Amino acid sequence: MTPTLPLPPLPPRGPALRPSAPHPDTVAVHGGMAGLTAAGSHVPVIDLSTTNPLAGVECGGDSYENLATGGTIREGDSAVYQRLWQPGVARFETALSALEGTEGTVAFASGMAALAAVLIASVAGGTPHVVALRPIYGGTDHVLATGLLGTTVSWVDPDGVAQAIRPDTGLVILESPANPTLALTDIRAVVAAAGSVPVLVDNTFATPVLQRPVDSGATLVLHSATKFLGGHGDVMGGTVSGPEHWMVRLRQVRALTGGVLHPFAAYLLHRGLRTLPVRVRAQQATAGAVAERLAGHPALARVLYPGLPGQDPLGLLGRQANGAGSIIALDLAGGFDAAVRFTEACTLITHAVSLGGVDSLVQHPASLTHRPVEAGARPGAGIVRLSIGLEHVDDLLADILAALDVVMDVTPDGAKVVVPNTAAAEPQDAVA
Ligand SMILES: *Cc1c(COP(=O)(O)O)cnc(C)c1O
Repeated sequence: MTPTLPLPPLPPRGPALRPSAPHPDTVAVHGGMAGLTAAGSHVPVIDLSTTNPLAGVECGGDSYENLATGGTIREGDSAVYQRLWQPGVARFETALSALEGTEGTVAFASGMAALAAVLIASVAGGTPHVVALRPIYGGTDHVLATGLLGTTVSWVDPDGVAQAIRPDTGLVILESPANPTLALTDIRAVVAAAGSVPVLVDNTFATPVLQRPVDSGATLVLHSATKFLGGHGDVMGGTVSGPEHWMVRLRQVRALTGGVLHPFAAYLLHRGLRTLPVRVRAQQATAGAVAERLAGHPALARVLYPGLPGQDPLGLLGRQANGAGSIIALDLAGGFDAAVRFTEACTLITHAVSLGGVDSLVQHPASLTHRPVEAGARPGAGIVRLSIGLEHVDDLLADILAALDVVMDVTPDGAKVVVPNTAAAEPQDAVA
């Protein structure tokens, strides 16, 4: 079997020697770099200025007015103040827009700041109702379930989208692959069901290397840039990419509420984009091999990975996404106890939240990232989530198989059996 699909072929080239449309790999390296050579630099300059000189009272006020209402910087404008405009952030935004195929991108201090800005804009537009598909990132679930930002929510599965749309619905939110089950959702079908309501896709797991949601009709694309885009576990950020009329609203929300990306974070994220395609493909290849090797292991009830046979019933790989990614969920046959023992037995793989970095991580969603999710919708107690990094596949498998050994008991005849889930503990009891 082939757990992952190859990247799409290079786009067709024109008769000229130069390619008419650069391949995304090339865009990843060169996006957002315009004008650097002319300025005598090879990489973006980190400008830490919080304030910027004004050429005059009137033009300074004019620049302020433009930027504080969501405009982009114009010829002759001062950037005025870092909360309004930051050149390194703008370069990163330009690069990500090129990869996602969107008119624009607005970058924020974190993925949750990015989501908050979208929700604030939607509420301010008089459409506070959100239709959201579960499962979804625990923080997204939490902010929607609490209504903290003035939204109301209807939780649906893909078939329930059309019915849930109301006159005050401002957004449909989904994640594919979903967090943490890796279930794939047909974005095109949800877009059709949503009608005129914009669909936001959290593309954190897939990245634009594997999936461009706007190609499937989505309006907005959200990233926790903290994950794959940064890729090294050392920078936080969040982005929303989409059409310019949305970008104007989001820049205004950012300017007025202040969830800005720091210039150094923007530098690191922009640098991260340059290696994103090679990292994503290498991590995906390893994840595919790991998933394949673990499928059928007696300590596992299921290996959840969209690249495994039968786990892409709608045939979305190759159509909506060109690969299954590098996140795997293991459903331990021994339930909660086994999941705890497995997680704590991993040594090379670090027990920590987050994903998408060069080093592999393991975590127990029901206790951690999805802890705030209401009990009925929480991931199974036996599920652990693995983010596969750039280590050698043999070392990762050795660590995982040794940790699986810990959740097996050796019987007198030498056969290994699964430790029964004696406690039958649901995580809400076990970790309350
Ligand atoms: C981490 C994550 C978020 C939240 O992003 P932060 O950068 O942690 O604020 C949102 N969605 C997904 C899928 C995530 O993994």
